[in-house]
Amino acid sequence: MRAVDIIIKKRDGGELSRAEIEFFVQGMTQGEIPDYQVAAWAMAVYFQGMTARETTDLTLAMARSGEVLDLSDTVPFAVDKHSTGGVGDKVTLVVEPLVAACGVPVGKMSGRGLGYSGGTVDKLESIPGYRASLSTESFKRQLKEIGVVLTGQSADLAPADGKLYALRDVTGTVDSIPLIASSVMSKKIAGGAQAIVLDVKAGSGAFMPTVAEAAKLAQAMVEIGRIAGRRVVALISDMNQPLGHAVGNTLEVKEAIETLRGAGPHDFREHCLEVAGHLLRLAGKARTPKAARARLEAALADGSAFAKFRQLVEAQGGDVRVIENPDLLPKASLVETVNAPRSGYLREVNAREIGLASVDLGAGRAKKGDSIDHAVGLVIHHKVGDRVRKGEPLFTIHANDAAQLKAAKARVLAAHRFSAKKVEPLPLFYEVLRGR
Ligand code: URA
Repeated sequence: MRAVDIIIKKRDGGELSRAEIEFFVQGMTQGEIPDYQVAAWAMAVYFQGMTARETTDLTLAMARSGEVLDLSDTVPFAVDKHSTGGVGDKVTLVVEPLVAACGVPVGKMSGRGLGYSGGTVDKLESIPGYRASLSTESFKRQLKEIGVVLTGQSADLAPADGKLYALRDVTGTVDSIPLIASSVMSKKIAGGAQAIVLDVKAGSGAFMPTVAEAAKLAQAMVEIGRIAGRRVVALISDMNQPLGHAVGNTLEVKEAIETLRGAGPHDFREHCLEVAGHLLRLAGKARTPKAARARLEAALADGSAFAKFRQLVEAQGGDVRVIENPDLLPKASLVETVNAPRSGYLREVNAREIGLASVDLGAGRAKKGDSIDHAVGLVIHHKVGDRVRKGEPLFTIHANDAAQLKAAKARVLAAHRFSAKKVEPLPLFYEVLRGR
């Protein structure tokens, strides 16, 4: 077999066999197929697409390109969640300790932020001392002992995806449904999950701008799960405006702590309860996500979800004093609140623009490997549909540089659009897709 023939076959719209896909993934992982051929192949897939069978074969080949975790000796049933990425998406920080507090052990490997979309590992690293890199052995031990682990993606899991993703990122081939679906699902399968809740974002701050495209991506992932024997539920959720109020690492950790203590923004809390409800159902702890609600709300109200988060931070070396008193978390030197320039109903709070403004402040990376400033970011005070009066606080900027603050102010102000007429709030979720 030759890599060039596989590239040509895909370029001309052919369907690749399992053997061809496995040959390509193995060659790519072992460095036998050079980057320029992998990039050309990714572009061919981008334009020609893949059938469900090809996408599943690609997923399984990438999952098997490294270690595949077997958690059957560690937990009775391994569940996981994954978000396709968004702005202000700190759901994992709340949902993982919350479901663990309800008796469902959950170990998760998360990613770092890239571009306007934030990453859980960056958020966790705002906590001084937090170790986001654990060996497989420590991961399993902690999961067994305290029922919750939150760490970075191990380089040993699905290394083919690591390689392919880095090339996609610089060749304009990220937003391809078969490539995203196989990237996400290969990591979930290699991570040992038997059941997975996928939070597939749709909107200006998501990979998939429309609900129809997000549903196609969700369907592709549910189908991979079905063929691979995993139980998968995909929620299509809104990402036209940021989730919650806080955008930026430390600010998001603070908001997650408020939520774990029973408060927090309404939309964010509801989002977390919905995702957690599906996880409890998949783990067999509730007949429906709705039936799980009372239990989840009790864990937020009685302090057990917060206690689980504290235990997680302590187990991973983080300074628990900042969890108990979030005012001790690193702060930006410049904090400025910008008021509404006019009265009206908010018709847009553009998530992408707000995400990009937070990157400009230093909260995210323009390219892989860039360093970030954990303390900076934004607090967006209103949601689409809110009636806002002129002079009322619209957003607050946390910056460490005056010029960056000025630029962010203009950008975030322009991301807010007003209407004289009443505007309906945006839904939190659009659809739920279920696998087997
Ligand atoms: N998240 C991933 O893990 N992979 C993609 O390709 C896109 C989002």
